[in-house]
Amino acid sequence: MDKNNIFKRETLIKQLEANANWDVIIIGGGATGLGVVLDSATRGFKTLLLEQVDFAKGTSSRSTKLLHGGVRYLAQGNIDLVKEALYERGLLLKNASHLANNQSFIIPNYNWFDTIKYTVGLKIYDALAGKLSFGTSIRINKKETLSRLSTIKNGKLKGGVVYHDGQFDDARLAVNIAQTAIEHGATVLNHFKVNQLTKNIKGLVNGVVAEDTETKVSYTLNAKVVINATGVFTDEILKMDNSEAKNMVRPSQGIHLVLDKSFLPGNDAIMIPKTNDGRVLFLVPWHNKVVVGTTDTLLDSHSLEPKALDEEIDFIIDTVNNYLTKKVSRADVLSIFAGLRPLAAPKDKSEKTKEISRSHKIIVSNSELITITGGKWTTYRRMAQDTVNKAISIGKLESKPCKTKDIKIHGAMDAIDKTQHQYIYGSDKTAIQALIRETPEFGETLHPRLPYTKAEIIWAIRYEMARTVEDILARRVRTLFLDAKATLEIIPMVAKILANELGKDDIWELQQINECNKIANQYVL
Ligand SMILES: Cc1cc2nc3c(=O)[nH]c(=O)nc-3n(C[C@H](O)[C@H](O)[C@H](O)COP(=O)(O)OP(=O)(O)OC[C@H]3O[C@@H](n4cnc5c(N)ncnc54)[C@H](O)[C@@H]3O)c2cc1C
Repeated sequence: MDKNNIFKRETLIKQLEANANWDVIIIGGGATGLGVVLDSATRGFKTLLLEQVDFAKGTSSRSTKLLHGGVRYLAQGNIDLVKEALYERGLLLKNASHLANNQSFIIPNYNWFDTIKYTVGLKIYDALAGKLSFGTSIRINKKETLSRLSTIKNGKLKGGVVYHDGQFDDARLAVNIAQTAIEHGATVLNHFKVNQLTKNIKGLVNGVVAEDTETKVSYTLNAKVVINATGVFTDEILKMDNSEAKNMVRPSQGIHLVLDKSFLPGNDAIMIPKTNDGRVLFLVPWHNKVVVGTTDTLLDSHSLEPKALDEEIDFIIDTVNNYLTKKVSRADVLSIFAGLRPLAAPKDKSEKTKEISRSHKIIVSNSELITITGGKWTTYRRMAQDTVNKAISIGKLESKPCKTKDIKIHGAMDAIDKTQHQYIYGSDKTAIQALIRETPEFGETLHPRLPYTKAEIIWAIRYEMARTVEDILARRVRTLFLDAKATLEIIPMVAKILANELGKDDIWELQQINECNKIANQYVL
């Protein structure tokens, strides 16, 4: 491994140990925390981010993979929110061109009223994107709808409305943002859990106590400002600050099923604007498979591996079967994953749970701990800008302008050929191919049903901070989200490569196999 590798854990831990005082410490390495570390580091603040498991282990690897303004929010008249998200969508296509794609969506229409409603509504959506528009929406007739969506039921179909939105790889964007922040001087560590907040004599938060979960070594770290960006774990951190704190969030689960591409051949995604329970359902092409979701189920507790409920699975399968000629059954599901949105917990029994994930919320506690929650992946950059601005406005940091509008995300490059699966690495692709030239064995694919090579596994370990088999298969090459059964078959091979790269023994390797098997089994239906 080359000694100038700035992504090596040993290097990052040395940075942690060498710095007694940080300007900013961020708890949580999902979209929100990673956005903040990039914003803060590029403004020139000495910044540290700590993630208890892996980047995007929480909700941020379990999204519908859309970069969108939210057609649904437009229908609710939330114009400012839609406009802001469409602007951010445009920036992502510019700054993370290797991960963000322009995706066409077709809304199938079954009556003329809907056709007019969606045609007009989507013209407004286009107009709100201004110069950063992804393409004009148009109405298409029944014949064209049937030819573009070859598996859609013919029946009472009248036609369709085509519009454009963004589509991306969420966990890979998370890893690439972490790398970009490191390249701009931040220290970013996964497998590091914050267990405690520290306070000065005035009762103001001035740091954290965190544990390296690999070595079990504990560190006390000081900072001018601590930012809580822990999604559905928000209340756990708020209770470290004040054990009496009322719950701020309540989780609502959304699940996705992944199907073979033959259920939706072609390049278009489908947007079903109103399911039987009044929700939106998407069928989106993703890495040569189709992601279908989502649901909205209020839960009483949260976990790092939420489980899909039977009724959620039935609901998605039944809804898809109302629209497609190719019948979906449970046996067709290649992978199933669930994510949790943080909703605003009711203040008292009379108040209902409200969704706060539509717009983000920044709260400053009496102890000056800053909490950022809600929002969506699409707006992660803007959320980060607002969070660091808040720290400046309350006098925790000196005033410096935000730079992220023009910061390219690690891997971004012009003119990418997206026909081969390694396009997702952008400018890193040539280095991965060089690995194969040096060691031809690395060119072997992992599984007959998966295009990924051993070189991508090596790359994830050496340069993308992957520390466990699950880090690799869930959030670097995404096989767990694409084909859970195939993933179960390759776990031992990947564990061997990982143990070899990290210099670990057979016992550690076996533990890795067992731990990853346990998680991967939950993705099989
Ligand atoms: C079903 C679903 C579909 C969605 N689809 C889309 C979409 O298509 N497009 C879109 O733009 N948005 C989408 N979203 C929203 C988007 O995914 C979320 O807004 C975003 O991922 C939230 O990121 P986060 O960083 O706030 O939370 P998380 O990703 O959950 O990150 C919080 C992190 O904090 C860490 N953490 C917790 N406690 C500690 C501790 N003590 N120490 C250290 N680390 C800790 C956790 O391990 C976790 O990784 C969707 C959300 C859901 C639920």
